Amino acid sequence: ASAFIGSSVVPIVNKLQDIFAPLEKDDLTEFNLPQVAVVGSQSSGKSSVLEALVGRDFLPRGCDICTRRPLLLQLQRNSGTEEWGEFRHLPNKRFYDFSEIRREIQVDTEKEVGKNREVSDKEIRLKIFSPNVLNITLVDLPGITKVPVGNQPSDIETRIKNLMKVYIKQENCIILAVSPANSDLATSDALQIAKEVDPTGFRTLGVITKLDIMDKGTDACKFLLGKVVPLRLGYVGVVNRSQEDIHKNRSIAEAFAYEELFFKDHPIYNSVSDRCGIRQLAKKLSQILEQHIRIVLPKFKSELNSRLVAVIKELHTYGDVMESKGEQGAVLSNILTKYCEAFSAMVDGKNQEMSTK
Ligand code: GDP
Ligand code: MG
Repeated sequence: ASAFIGSSVVPIVNKLQDIFAPLEKDDLTEFNLPQVAVVGSQSSGKSSVLEALVGRDFLPRGCDICTRRPLLLQLQRNSGTEEWGEFRHLPNKRFYDFSEIRREIQVDTEKEVGKNREVSDKEIRLKIFSPNVLNITLVDLPGITKVPVGNQPSDIETRIKNLMKVYIKQENCIILAVSPANSDLATSDALQIAKEVDPTGFRTLGVITKLDIMDKGTDACKFLLGKVVPLRLGYVGVVNRSQEDIHKNRSIAEAFAYEELFFKDHPIYNSVSDRCGIRQLAKKLSQILEQHIRIVLPKFKSELNSRLVAVIKELHTYGDVMESKGEQGAVLSNILTKYCEAFSAMVDGKNQEMSTK
């Protein structure tokens, strides 16, 4: 019952990543998807949203400041059936128990910044290997706070914003701007910082959390419809687990079931069901990724083409004795051919066919 991010583009992207795999890692033509980063104020539900998108429990979440360092979450597809995590600071150690991953994030955070709510820009890098994921990087970030607590410096707000901007100012970053439904969207930190780095809104998707705990008699329809703060890519409303659910160890599957129940037959959210639920969020993200692929593919093709031409030219200068060079040319032309097939399938909307090959 997971809502793996980008599920609709998994076949095409995996295919492309396979096609490009024979190329060297530092190659210009390496196929990279955009990163996805969450921004917003502290406790707005950023980590909860990321977790739901990945469909596994492993991030520290809670009412105080839990996320105190950027977490680079690199999802990595692997064959086989096993799923595990690996930290960069603990090479060769495989975590099969996802609650241990959460513990390790906490331990390493405290090692770096102590126990007293300090925040650091030093990344934690975690790879999650799974047969079901897209090779994509998600970034969890500390939330914006206004008033320093514990050992936080007096300019904590500026510091956190600068830290966020390092990630979200990159053109290749999709911003999930997370705002809780129980406070005014017009004052949302998330939308404010997203707007600073992405004024046209081409890569900002709004996420409204906590639809379940709004004041009686109010609802988030105006937010979701963009009537309070318009957003080019629009909004999705979600219901994540509450603090009580966390204490009671409610699983992510239970949370999905609860969310579905919440929206199902809801007298108000019925009319905007295409903007409600973590699945819709995953779907929207997939569409954005698909759009991105369509835009970057032609550029890749011409890059590959010119490399092929260069290799063939070089080949000619050697005569036909250089076997390894010949192989290189063959590899490239093979890549180009497969690529063209994948590309036309993508443009023709034949993704289905590709997944079965
Ligand atoms: P972050 O600081 O933005 O990463 O927020 P967290 O994901 O750590 O969540 C902060 C708190 O809000 C936690 O106690 C969550 O259980 C709670 N929370 C997050 N989303 C929701 C939601 O949609 N509904 C409810 N009731 N609680 C939520
Ligand atoms: Mg967090």
